[in-house]
Amino acid sequence: MTLGRYVCAARYFLGFSGLNPLLKDLAANYFTSQAVRAAAGWMQCTLETHGGPHAEMLCDNRPGVALWVRWTDHPTELVWLRDCPVADTDPSGTGDACSLFVEHPGGHTWEITDPELELIRAVEPTLTKPYDKGSSDPS
Ligand SMILES: [Zn+2]
Ligand SMILES: [Zn+2]
Repeated sequence: MTLGRYVCAARYFLGFSGLNPLLKDLAANYFTSQAVRAAAGWMQCTLETHGGPHAEMLCDNRPGVALWVRWTDHPTELVWLRDCPVADTDPSGTGDACSLFVEHPGGHTWEITDPELELIRAVEPTLTKPYDKGSSDPS
């Protein structure tokens, strides 16, 4: 995470009716089709603020590549893209591999901040705290 560098977070609704022709164009197999259908709904761009098409990963069931949905306004496309080969090897870094595609625009995943994800991380400890039965359980 680098303060001041944020994910684009542009949204796009990819419903089943829009997906079916895209899956047909891709000649997607059963497992890919199932994974893509499970991921349908609101897409959110995971690239750093950029120009050009927005992108979110839908499925990564093959080694070294992942299926991405790309959109501007229209048309939307599904494309298999090779994984970004860069990892956070800085001595103070996480060692994590970048989860974007090769030659993506903008920073690698650890260089950009997703405010929504940071918010979830911040409240997660309070959400997973065991429920205190003593105070409100009448039995
Ligand atoms: Zn975008
Ligand atoms: Zn990268």
